[in-house]
Amino acid sequence: MVEVSVSRFWRRPPALDLLVLGIEIGGHGQRVVVADGSGHIRGQAHAPDGRVDALTAVLTVQHLAERACEQAGVPLSAIEAAGIAFGGPVDPQRGLTLLSHRAPGFEQFPLAALLEERLGLSAALDNDARAAALGEAAFGAGRGCQNLVYVHLATGVGGGIVVDGRLLYGASNTAGEIGHMVVSTGGPLCSCGKPGHLEAYAAAPSIQARVRDRLAESPEDPARATLTRRQPTLRQIFQAASFSPAVDLVVRETVQTLGLAVANLITVLNPEAVILGGPVAEVGPLLMDPLQARVRQYAYPASLRSVRLTTAELGSDAIILGAVALALAHSGRV
Ligand SMILES: [Zn+2]
Repeated sequence: MVEVSVSRFWRRPPALDLLVLGIEIGGHGQRVVVADGSGHIRGQAHAPDGRVDALTAVLTVQHLAERACEQAGVPLSAIEAAGIAFGGPVDPQRGLTLLSHRAPGFEQFPLAALLEERLGLSAALDNDARAAALGEAAFGAGRGCQNLVYVHLATGVGGGIVVDGRLLYGASNTAGEIGHMVVSTGGPLCSCGKPGHLEAYAAAPSIQARVRDRLAESPEDPARATLTRRQPTLRQIFQAASFSPAVDLVVRETVQTLGLAVANLITVLNPEAVILGGPVAEVGPLLMDPLQARVRQYAYPASLRSVRLTTAELGSDAIILGAVALALAHSGRV
């Protein structure tokens, strides 16, 4: 496993002659980029099917790597290392994926070793949320921070934690599983089977499902006609909270539970920044403004003074640029 020190990305001038591969394998399929030492993408290729089995994913990545190199105008032999971000639990020390909820064959699967063999490159592996945290720390909203928390609010809720300049892994690599923080006693069941976890409140599908349920119980609600005709976007939901009591209840509950989780993270970890990314965070001030107020209400005052709460800068590129940062660290030249 690579020891990544985040300050190396912003304390030294970038090695622009250094080329690496960033590889993302997850729900949006497989994506490969060629990038330089500053995180600038020189070439990329994408295959959208996120349900292919593990061996097919390896072959697809090999093909995409060749296309990305072609686009960048360099041979694969010019690449120094690869970083892989996987959408599911991994064993980064052994380069194994442990499971995929979408596709078969990823149980105890030696993804890093097989890609090393296929690409003729040394490769490092991590999960997508930790990779996104690293991406934001190296090239995004977390530059300059030695301590930060990244919260990814998407189909699930994940995260990555940087403490004293290094990614936190924990005893069995589950550090950063922010979605499974307890934010209420009882409450809806999480995807992991336990009650009251943040993911059951703040993941995009749980927000949408709770809005649907509330509106079904509120025949007089002014948002009922527009929001039940088809699946509303998160922005539509957050906007409707200003005139719909049913939607307002769901949005308040989301802000409240997320606020508790973020306040606790700030109190325990004393970070310089908490960065929110993913589709739910992209709603912007409609989420962030009330969230700021909640966090100020709950977090330990001495920790609160030194933290800023902000949205991610890299958008949907956070994960792949995290894979690039992983590769740069793995190359030994950053
Ligand atoms: Zn859970």
